[in-house]
Amino acid sequence: MHTFEFIRPADQAAAIATAAQTKTAQQGAEVRFLGGGTTLIDLMKLNVETPARVLDINRLPLDKIEATSDGGLQIGAMVRNSDLAYHAKVQKDYSVLSQAILEGASAQIRNMATVGGNLLQRTRCVYFRDTAMTCNKREPGSGCPAITGHNRTLAILGGSDHCIATNPSDMCVALAALEATVQIQGTKGSRAVAFGDFHLLPASTPNRETVLEPGDLITHVILPAPIAGSKQVYLKLRDRASYEFALASAAVVLTISSGKISRTQIALGGVGTKPWRSPEAEAALAGKPTTDAIFREAAEAALRGAKPQSENKFKIELAKRCLTHALRIATAN
Ligand SMILES: Cc1cc2nc3c(=O)[nH]c(=O)nc-3n(C[C@H](O)[C@H](O)[C@H](O)COP(=O)(O)OP(=O)(O)OC[C@H]3O[C@@H](n4cnc5c(N)ncnc54)[C@H](O)[C@@H]3O)c2cc1C
Ligand code: SF4
Repeated sequence: MHTFEFIRPADQAAAIATAAQTKTAQQGAEVRFLGGGTTLIDLMKLNVETPARVLDINRLPLDKIEATSDGGLQIGAMVRNSDLAYHAKVQKDYSVLSQAILEGASAQIRNMATVGGNLLQRTRCVYFRDTAMTCNKREPGSGCPAITGHNRTLAILGGSDHCIATNPSDMCVALAALEATVQIQGTKGSRAVAFGDFHLLPASTPNRETVLEPGDLITHVILPAPIAGSKQVYLKLRDRASYEFALASAAVVLTISSGKISRTQIALGGVGTKPWRSPEAEAALAGKPTTDAIFREAAEAALRGAKPQSENKFKIELAKRCLTHALRIATAN
């Protein structure tokens, strides 16, 4: 039995205090905030999420996209994915983000889905979504049938003996490459978390996916000032052309100076247990000319630590080609 409650703007602090009384902000949370519901309601129908109280935060005044004093962008957690993707400044200065969002889900889902909810969308691992199966992420200590079972779409980077689930978000791959910051409001005040530190590797606690603590409300995502003259590409490879999650994707932000790559920020999707920033690829590209051979070296570096499972070895080469091609597109003109 769940109760659904609308949270008025004046009641934001009370909602945070209510959620803070629970044991966890992770899997099994007794209180959940509701954004667009495209993850949460799905999982409640499957009994994977069983919160006693659902606090609908759609009325909170967190639906604005505003310039920051240092030239960046502050994006409210309730901004719909579509509104963010089509925002003029995002399309102009952070086009990798716009591209990534528009490669995800469907127009209808993007119209509902919020920025805060997208950061917290859950894995599509089939065992996680089926309560008849064991799953360490859903029930800690119960086991991970994916490691010896159906793992074609699962992660090849960042996995552990306890979980190899892929983080499915496209938007988060772009936010990782753009070095965004997540603004969180909790009972003890507001704090900012660098995007790369927000999601956790599964290690021995795959039920713990982010640094959020009970009561924490994501209020904003902050983008730093745009990188002048940067070329930006999001390339997503998947089993069908729409309405499908990435098997491999690459977000590329780079600048070129005197024919050499002067700055790069690279992240991969579809292959990691979290949105996967690749300092290895960035190092391989720094100061180098824009040739196919250099792009391939960067892709080799990005995937060097990959650990495939029985069904997903193909992802290593796929991800390499994805990144190589994304770099080729980004530097084409
Ligand atoms: C059929 C289908 C296909 C999809 N395909 C893709 C795809 O190709 N690529 C892709 O990236 N995504 C895809 N998605 C996922 C979709 O992007 C997410 O479901 C969506 O972004 C989640 O946003 P939401 O607002 O609906 O989240 P909700 O379902 O409302 O919430 C998700 C989680 O976040 C929590 N939450 C929400 N807002 C806050 C907040 N402000 N602070 C703290 N906690 C919060 C909720 O409590 C819940 O635990 C797909 C989804 C579906 C159903
Ligand atoms: S990979 Fe993770 S989510 Fe999937 S069954 Fe194993 S523990 Fe569960």
